[in-house]
Amino acid sequence: MTEPHPPEVIGSIAELRERIARARASAVAAGRSGRVALVPTMGALHEGHLSLVARAAELADIVVVSIFVNPLQFGDPTDLDLYPRTLDADVDKLAATGVELVFAPTAREMYPNGATGTTVTAGPVGSLFEGASRPGHFDGVLTVVDKLIQISGADVAVFGQKDAQQVFLVQSMVADLNTPVQIDVVPTVREASGLALSSRNARLSEVEREGALAISAALTAASAHTGSAAGALAAARAVIEAQPLVKLDYLVVVHPDTFLPVDDDYRGPARMLVAALVGGTRLIDNTALDIDPDLT
Ligand code: AMP
Repeated sequence: MTEPHPPEVIGSIAELRERIARARASAVAAGRSGRVALVPTMGALHEGHLSLVARAAELADIVVVSIFVNPLQFGDPTDLDLYPRTLDADVDKLAATGVELVFAPTAREMYPNGATGTTVTAGPVGSLFEGASRPGHFDGVLTVVDKLIQISGADVAVFGQKDAQQVFLVQSMVADLNTPVQIDVVPTVREASGLALSSRNARLSEVEREGALAISAALTAASAHTGSAAGALAAARAVIEAQPLVKLDYLVVVHPDTFLPVDDDYRGPARMLVAALVGGTRLIDNTALDIDPDLT
């Protein structure tokens, strides 16, 4: 990493490639690795994103943060319109981090012909959970992530555990397509209250924000009942059902290797996933569980 200074904001794919090539060459000439880390984001940056950036800086010499609200992953045009866009504030936040390059393309730069003719398909897990509520979402996510990896030539790309299904599908994509990039995953950053940081939290009223605490509280309750998946689910559901402002979309315990729901008699590592509507805002969260009947 070079000394902290405001990042250069680049909108063109050709220019980004050229700047990364130069940054790599000068890093190597200075005896550094010249490794490139990519942090894909949709902007409205918060401490969760900044923890990805900090991790990227540990893993590579040159950090590229992309800020692109990807229309391909939004089924609902209102959701796309409502998504916060705060590029100047985002660049200010990145100025203190030592990020060298911000890639902030327009939709036309990324998709010059409108939707791409060729897209990445997420496979069966892409239509479960988030994919069931948001059809086509993960095809859009994987298509843009693949494009960003190809454009940047990154050695490593950093993602947040907050979006557990996204992490699973990105890892599956790079394995299935033999993409030469390492995927690094950073733990979910939370408020002291437990609420997972999300750009969508800005849409919550004060009373909704209070209600939203039931989501992380449900996961904490599940962590105390890991004798069986059913017990963990019941504990989590009870917390959410006690909060009238929170409408559960899905609550499930999945196997970490397949991302499919575990059987009743399953024991071993698992992940609980939750999605819920708080007012009009859809929030997701997840936690690791170790299902072990001896623990009840
Ligand atoms: P987004 O801009 O919301 O698409 O998120 C960009 C990246 O930041 C994704 O890899 C997210 O998983 C990650 N991220 C978002 N919120 C958090 C959080 N609270 N903790 C850690 N990573 C996060």
